[in-house]
Amino acid sequence: MTDPQVRVRYAPSPTGMLHVGGVRTALFNWLFAKKNGGAFVLRIEDTDLERSTEESVEQLKSSLRWIGLDWDEGPEVGGPHEPYRQTERLDLYKDATQKLLDAGHAYYDFATPEELTELRKAAQAEKRPPIYTGGEYREMDVDRARKRIEAGEAHTVRFKTPRDGTTIFQDMIRGEISFENSNLEDFVIMKSSGTPTYNFAAAVDDATMNITHVIRGDDHISNTPRQILIYHALGYPVPPFAHVPQVLGPDKKKLSKRHGAASAEEFAAQGVLPEALFNYLALLGAGYAADEEIFSPDELAERFRIEKVSGNPAVFDETKLLAVNATYIRKKSPGELAMLAAPELVSGGVATADEMESDLPRLTQIMELLRERIQRTTDMADSASYFYGGTLDYDEAEFIKQFDKPFVRENFSEMVARLKGLEGWNDEQIEEAIRSFAAEKEKGARHIIHPVRFAATGRTVSAGLFETLTLLGRERTIARLEAADRKMSSLPA
Ligand code: GLU
Repeated sequence: MTDPQVRVRYAPSPTGMLHVGGVRTALFNWLFAKKNGGAFVLRIEDTDLERSTEESVEQLKSSLRWIGLDWDEGPEVGGPHEPYRQTERLDLYKDATQKLLDAGHAYYDFATPEELTELRKAAQAEKRPPIYTGGEYREMDVDRARKRIEAGEAHTVRFKTPRDGTTIFQDMIRGEISFENSNLEDFVIMKSSGTPTYNFAAAVDDATMNITHVIRGDDHISNTPRQILIYHALGYPVPPFAHVPQVLGPDKKKLSKRHGAASAEEFAAQGVLPEALFNYLALLGAGYAADEEIFSPDELAERFRIEKVSGNPAVFDETKLLAVNATYIRKKSPGELAMLAAPELVSGGVATADEMESDLPRLTQIMELLRERIQRTTDMADSASYFYGGTLDYDEAEFIKQFDKPFVRENFSEMVARLKGLEGWNDEQIEEAIRSFAAEKEKGARHIIHPVRFAATGRTVSAGLFETLTLLGRERTIARLEAADRKMSSLPA
């Protein structure tokens, strides 16, 4: 099978949680692949052995899956360019290193870290940029170098950067970007430990995995000329690049936990649905007038144009994300919402797991009633809490405000008795009972509705009272109203 025309990759280093900026970069790759009928490859760049962790590899994969960014090739799913973890591809980097050494594009460097520090200091003192060009090693005879290696001398392998000329590329987002080669040092491609550096491994992998478009974070712009030089030296065609800007908080600093949430896991923990984060990040800074519109992943892919992505940092707006989230919550069926709500209510201590299981039909109705009011799934436990449990602890000041009124003090008991005497228990009967009672007393219905709502829910705001009382059930409602009635009788005259 031949590779598809378009192949893109997301290549995270497993050194922490998946940041929103990374989600957005992965998302742009995914949309680009979908739009062009191409492949989205996941590659784990784990050559930094000290900082990479297995836990982070697992977190990255589960965060990508959670948001719906399934990869066509990569860990677990496999593919024609296996393996997809850099620590399992070391032979490839060794072969490529040998090729570069043989062709005179790379050399063994024996400078010690102390010597390199000295050179850097000397350059600083003379106000020269500290550009290391290998000194005596750059042109050292290969056999002599091999002898020193055989004798056990520590060494790195460096790329022999051309000392003149310009490396230019057309960035799909930012247009032409150029670097003077004379400003680039002879960078290390193989560390003394025998592991490749990021620039080298990424270039070898992108080339050997037939990546056709490199879409990545703009923190890598300065690495791109180095990688292009490697492509040239190894005789590979250079792919187009697109450098995606960072995601900043409202204070224009890199979005971090300080801003509330910054990783996919934190957003999930704060009640954001994956569909909403997907939708919001796909539009954020992507060249559309409004970034709160609702589109399916297929529609987003259809509309996606990498050239339209803004070259300026994207500013994350939590209010907009939550508006999108609320829309996705409303779009769910009450049954789906009940399935999301049940674990929230259990973890929020509102109900037990057993209770939830037997109460699912009622929870479904409760969610239908409340869904307009929920912004995050984590709001569910609080929003629905008064539908569970027995009598309520009322806020004293609010209780007095609601009940210490002549009309309420004179009529509340009678109202409770009316409700208690109802034959059935549904919206219409409850509404009829309250409205006719108010009419008899020649008062607006709100004079009854407000204290009844507060007595039944402990809140001054709720969904429609009649539906709320229906779902609360007769027994719970009457017990709460009677408790409030008793409390009212004990208020000082
Ligand atoms: N491993 C790099 C990172 O996590 C990605 C570099 C790239 O996409 O080329 O920043």
